Amino acid sequence: MNQRVLIIGAGIAGIQAALDIANSGFEVVLVEKEPSIGGHMAQLSETFPTLDCSQCILTPRTVEAGHHQNIQLYTYSELESIQKSPENGQFTARIRRKAAYINWDLCTGCGVCQEKCPFKVESDFERGIGPRKVVYTLSPQAVPNKPVIDAANCRYLQSKWDMEAGRIPALDKNGNPAKPKCGACVKFCPTGAIDWEQQDEIFEETVGAVIAATGFDLFPMQRLPEYGGGRIPDVIDALAFERMLAASGPTAGKIRRPSDGREPKEVVFVQCSGSRDPERGMPYCSKICCMYTAKQAILYRHRVHDGQAYVFYIDVRAGGKGYEEFLNRAQEQDQVAYLRGKVGKIYQEGDKVRVRGVDTLTRRTIEIDADLVVLATAVIPRASSADVARLLALDSDENGFFTADNEEFNPMGSSQARVFFAGAALGPKDIPETVAQASGAAAKVLALFQSDVHSSTAKEKVMETL
Ligand SMILES: Cc1cc2nc3c(=O)[nH]c(=O)nc-3n(C[C@H](O)[C@H](O)[C@H](O)COP(=O)(O)OP(=O)(O)OC[C@H]3O[C@@H](n4cnc5c(N)ncnc54)[C@H](O)[C@@H]3O)c2cc1C
Repeated sequence: MNQRVLIIGAGIAGIQAALDIANSGFEVVLVEKEPSIGGHMAQLSETFPTLDCSQCILTPRTVEAGHHQNIQLYTYSELESIQKSPENGQFTARIRRKAAYINWDLCTGCGVCQEKCPFKVESDFERGIGPRKVVYTLSPQAVPNKPVIDAANCRYLQSKWDMEAGRIPALDKNGNPAKPKCGACVKFCPTGAIDWEQQDEIFEETVGAVIAATGFDLFPMQRLPEYGGGRIPDVIDALAFERMLAASGPTAGKIRRPSDGREPKEVVFVQCSGSRDPERGMPYCSKICCMYTAKQAILYRHRVHDGQAYVFYIDVRAGGKGYEEFLNRAQEQDQVAYLRGKVGKIYQEGDKVRVRGVDTLTRRTIEIDADLVVLATAVIPRASSADVARLLALDSDENGFFTADNEEFNPMGSSQARVFFAGAALGPKDIPETVAQASGAAAKVLALFQSDVHSSTAKEKVMETL
């Protein structure tokens, strides 16, 4: 039996499982759709309840995974198809690596192409509060440190393809052959690594087990019209606030209003923005918001000493080691004002953002004219989880999260033999729980490989006696 494992998704869940298996001497094929690994943890500033710097604790793991001799890493790649052999249960996976238009074998990661690229677009990684270049890596600590060219926004590629398709004339106004626009990266790349002709590549890998670790997303603010529907510049989601808090983020850790760059003196955090809301189809608790909101309010108070933080909550859930104490610290030591109630409406009022809610303890209507509002929007599964579920015939619940075979006794196992789960793809969870589950999934794979060895040795012995 093949003793390699395919892991889909290289957030902290996929990385932890990959390292556990690789360090036990087995080969791992780790597939990540983004240009670099780390998932959402790479976007975080500090982590509750210890306030460790997220990048500092993540980077040693991304670097180890990126250089491990037993880990074959495919970034900017997705699973295209997967077939299971009925004879031996072995999987044959086809992996598509998207064209990066940069030859990574020649690229040294010097960053000159990014520096010289003259065009900027909104960055998904920075959650809309900061730009990135058209040639980019996700972050300065990216693993692998190899950039990709965003073809949809690249002037050179778009004008080249327009000329090839006859959409723009092949001759310029002087009758000379027209040249594609820009090309600054080609001009300055010291190793000639820019490759305009690069195509998507397909790789085939055979493995004996699979772990799906495709993670989570946040519910889009655009679908919360009563909270401004994503149209009020100073209403942002919690991941955008993480990027603002992060030293490597677009504001270098300074808290600034996206609208005018001013330091906000009153910040309102709204928990359960979409979670525990059956009308929107998310009846469940997103589980991590109470804790990360407390963390963000504390960190805001550390940055803006004369600022006031308010937290609207339905009720507070803090079921982890040191979590209750952390919440108490937010209220007592850092004077974060907790208001029990649901926010009904958020709207622009002059240069302020008015937050209207009801305090369910005093039954009074509360209105706060805030400088900045941070929404703890619901944790939802990544859209690509549905594709992975379809390819591997995995079960998902009514909310789109993967469903374990047996929640009590096999919480990492799927309904398909030799396929396991790890992390937030199964449902909202924090980093410690994600890591514990990923190590659990790795242990399941290692036990399976061990039992394969035992059964083939037993078979050989039976054959010898015949
Ligand atoms: C605002 C905020 C603050 C937080 N703060 C904390 C904190 O302080 N402490 C704490 O413990 N937790 C915190 N968390 C929770 C933490 O982010 C998660 O526990 C953790 O990121 C889950 O890791 P994961 O690997 O399961 O998922 P993800 O981080 O989502 O990683 C999944 C990876 O899979 C990749 N992927 C998805 N689909 C595919 C596919 N089809 N093919 C290939 N790759 C794919 C994705 O690109 C991604 O890299 C916070 C979360 C939020 C939203």
